[in-house]
Amino acid sequence: MEGHIIILFMILSAIPFVILYFIIKAAVRNGILEARRIENAPLSANPLDRIAQIPCPSCGKKHDMDYPKCPYCNHRR
Ligand SMILES: [Zn+2]
Repeated sequence: MEGHIIILFMILSAIPFVILYFIIKAAVRNGILEARRIENAPLSANPLDRIAQIPCPSCGKKHDMDYPKCPYCNHRR
């Protein structure tokens, strides 16, 4: 009789851990799905990453291609 109570107590005490396991599993799965969604998202999500960078012929520093002149040394292309 007492053995049954101990087993029941063990099962009951394990339930929060089982719930926690499923919560963590769901959170990790959602995190992976979210990361995949961001990876597959169009680049327009961050326009700064889309602009190509070119090295300045004068100072050699990289700057955005759409600048008419180098922002570091004002060298005109
Ligand atoms: Zn420059």
